[in-house]
Amino acid sequence: MLVTAKEMLKTAKEGKYAVGQFNINNLEWSKAVLLTAQENNSPVILGVSEGAAKYMGGYNVVMGMVKGLIKDQGITVPVAVHLDHGSYEGSMKAMEAGFSSIMFDGSHYAIDENIAKTKEIVALGKEKGFSVEAEVGSIGGDEDGVVGSGEIADPAECKMIADLGVDMLAAGIGNIHGKYPENWTGLSFDTLAKIQQLTGVMPLVLHGGTGIPIEMIQEAITLGVSKINVNTECQLTFTAATRIYFEEKKDLVGKGFDPRKVLAPGFQAIKDTVKEKMEMFGSIDKA
Ligand SMILES: [Zn+2]
Repeated sequence: MLVTAKEMLKTAKEGKYAVGQFNINNLEWSKAVLLTAQENNSPVILGVSEGAAKYMGGYNVVMGMVKGLIKDQGITVPVAVHLDHGSYEGSMKAMEAGFSSIMFDGSHYAIDENIAKTKEIVALGKEKGFSVEAEVGSIGGDEDGVVGSGEIADPAECKMIADLGVDMLAAGIGNIHGKYPENWTGLSFDTLAKIQQLTGVMPLVLHGGTGIPIEMIQEAITLGVSKINVNTECQLTFTAATRIYFEEKKDLVGKGFDPRKVLAPGFQAIKDTVKEKMEMFGSIDKA
């Protein structure tokens, strides 16, 4: 069932668990995430970066594919299709294609311009019926070409953006996209606690969910994080499983060259990773 992220995250915040956002790249990814959500009776958010939307053929292709999977695979759990780190222009295109949720990443603008553009997108969200995520303080690492330096967000700025009527707020608290470096100092729970104190019931979003230790994830959920983005980890497990297929030369046996066979281990690896995250985030049986 295609829904916005608003209700599912409000319920998650009240219930002290988080909903996973799993970024998709193609049919296998989308089907793996949706089937795992259905099997585990978990709400789910499909994240689509601008680069991934372009790769898949465009925003309309993504919506056509996901809507088709929901219908033909009998997916009844709540599913949001969410633009991840959208530019202003990308947000407009995703909106036209019918995305149910949009992250407008105005973190690279000065705060005044971030506010003005976020306001405009919030108004469009209310009119057209999609949920909106905003970001304060850029999140470190490279997210599909969007490079951030890993700032710690200013809680007062978070409050200003939250008051614009966004449905969820991403704030930099030392989290990083991609793999975490050896010398990573961990999440800033002091900052998270201050942000939560100022923003109240607003669901907070943790980007860069790959490789954050489980204790930190659970502490973050306790402090108001209701959505956790996972992207790199599915890429790593998919690619590792696919590599084994070739290393074992399974492609040379019988019809092992059939792409449906080649992609099967990676598909299963995504399913296993998604399930593991849903357990960690506490979203199983919360649909
Ligand atoms: Zn992100």
